[in-house]
Amino acid sequence: MTFEPTRAAGLKALADFLPKAGGSYAARRNYDLGAAGHPHVSRLSPWMRHRLVSETEVLRAVLGRHSASAAEKFIQEVYWRTYWKGWLEMRPGVWRQYRDGVAAARNRLATEGGLRRDWEAACTGDTGIDCFDHWARELVATGYLHNHARMWFASIWVFTLRLPWELGADFFLRHLLDGDPASNTLGWRWVAGIQTPGKTYLARPDNIARYTEGRFDPRGQLAEHADPIPAPPPPPRMAAPTGDRPDPALRTGWLMTEDDLLAGFPDLPPGDAGLPLCLMPCDDLRSPLATAPHVRGFTAAAMGDAAARHAGMFAEPVTASGHGRIEQVLDWAATRGLRQVVMPHAPAGPAGDACGDLCKALAAEGIALRRILRPHDARAWPHATHGFFRFKEKIPALLADLGGLRAA
Ligand SMILES: Cc1cc2nc3c(=O)[nH]c(=O)nc-3n(C[C@H](O)[C@H](O)[C@H](O)COP(=O)(O)OP(=O)(O)OC[C@H]3O[C@@H](n4cnc5c(N)ncnc54)[C@H](O)[C@@H]3O)c2cc1C
Repeated sequence: MTFEPTRAAGLKALADFLPKAGGSYAARRNYDLGAAGHPHVSRLSPWMRHRLVSETEVLRAVLGRHSASAAEKFIQEVYWRTYWKGWLEMRPGVWRQYRDGVAAARNRLATEGGLRRDWEAACTGDTGIDCFDHWARELVATGYLHNHARMWFASIWVFTLRLPWELGADFFLRHLLDGDPASNTLGWRWVAGIQTPGKTYLARPDNIARYTEGRFDPRGQLAEHADPIPAPPPPPRMAAPTGDRPDPALRTGWLMTEDDLLAGFPDLPPGDAGLPLCLMPCDDLRSPLATAPHVRGFTAAAMGDAAARHAGMFAEPVTASGHGRIEQVLDWAATRGLRQVVMPHAPAGPAGDACGDLCKALAAEGIALRRILRPHDARAWPHATHGFFRFKEKIPALLADLGGLRAA
């Protein structure tokens, strides 16, 4: 199972999956068949997470092939991504709480006897729980895990191995090609009983045996109770971002992070071939530890693909990366005489943090950073006020709007 970091490969994966997006997905999506290559799910997340292929494109393609009711389950799953992003955008403090939690848990590794050994065994797949060890190794080897495996793995990490959930989320974020600050942090919080207070997810041996078609049967090995992990309440909800409007009169450069590798915004100055382009990968900021080489490779190649696809629109790209990324962007902007830098909105997470710092540094030089929101996000995110079940009620109206949205 490989994930080629190009838009063309993402579109091909979408086309190949389309016939299965209806009843077949609804019936079989929970089966994790491992070595069989996960044939019942789309495996589109590495491309969607980087917006090599957008949610709008996926939804449109699915609706071109199936009715909304036949593909209801798949459509809902795509909107889970949108919902988590919107939820975190309105509570960015939860991302900061998570980062603080990772730092605190790493301190515990240094001071609590046995914790480091147990954490290392979990990460290398040496716990003696076959299914868990298999998924730890599958993740490290492929950069992907089936959704059900992610749920089981996280539950075993938290409730059976009793390891800090933040270290598990960090392990995922370092290795998942689709590692996403919203889906990952909130997925782990959901399993641990923090996201929906009091409601935990307990991995059960019979459920694992059934949905792995008997490949694993961890009877007697897993925790039988899952008490919610204590955590501070989320900070008060803020308004969803509305996005900025670029000023067409200003000398402009375009900046991309790995969060959105499609150009094609209606607000982009039209016909401005040769727009200065800066690529600013932030995947090294996913964790205080090193991000896995396959993630670094995917991000770099995906950004290269984006630049190559838009070669007619942008000038030869400059890459700003590592600890000096902010200074490198400042230098790029200054040498080109830019008065504004325009970019797709970088959501809460590593790139969002870096862009917050960048915004201040550019402002000090009299250069505006304008972050444009995609219509899909602008319409959907404000509905992520409560749980998914309330958000879900808005899906028919959001789908009806799709006709009016540009493909991206
Ligand atoms: C603990 C945990 C951690 C997770 N971490 C991540 C992460 O870092 N990045 C990430 O993209 N997803 C994450 N997920 C969500 C989900 O597991 C993956 O999006 C999904 O497995 C991707 O595989 P797929 O493309 O084959 O999914 P499919 O089943 O084919 O679903 C289609 C698309 O819908 C979206 N989707 C499906 N399920 C979810 C979900 N539960 N939450 C959000 N979006 C969803 C994805 O964009 C996916 O590509 C996590 C889930 C859990 C339980």
